[in-house]
Amino acid sequence: MDANRGLTAMVDMTSVLPEKTRIPAPRQRRGLNGMRQTIWDILLSVAQPVSAYWLIDQLRTRGKSVAPPTVYRALSFLQSARMVHRVESLNAFIACTRPEHPHHGQFLICTECGQTEEISEEIVTELVAATAATRGFVPTVQIIELNGTCRNCVLESDKELNAGAGSP
Ligand SMILES: [Zn+2]
Ligand SMILES: [Zn+2]
Repeated sequence: MDANRGLTAMVDMTSVLPEKTRIPAPRQRRGLNGMRQTIWDILLSVAQPVSAYWLIDQLRTRGKSVAPPTVYRALSFLQSARMVHRVESLNAFIACTRPEHPHHGQFLICTECGQTEEISEEIVTELVAATAATRGFVPTVQIIELNGTCRNCVLESDKELNAGAGSP
């Protein structure tokens, strides 16, 4: 399976970008200047991981031509404000679903359709940190990303299997 397939699939969502769907936590809105705000709005509306270059393309279609460092700086601010997570295995960025609670994001990434869900279970974070601590390890970053097949894709492939079994 092509590891980049999911990300490519997500780029196809350009045509179905919904309008702004969620309202960001008010506390973190301080420091949201034009570019940060625009990128935050885009990330909120896609609600899926997208690459910095995908963002640059989006900005261009909105008539804003920006250099990559500008976008990376804005992303870096949004990450430090805990509004955005970087999904390491996809080299992509996603709006946090709970920006009001500091946490390590944990992600379920579908390699079939690219659908990515943030779970952020505190018990998982604590268990991993505690396990590291028993080995005297002091973690600075915790990244948990699961690649697999989402519920929809599992259902789809079941349907295909059943359809195949029914045909002569
Ligand atoms: Zn989060
Ligand atoms: Zn899927």
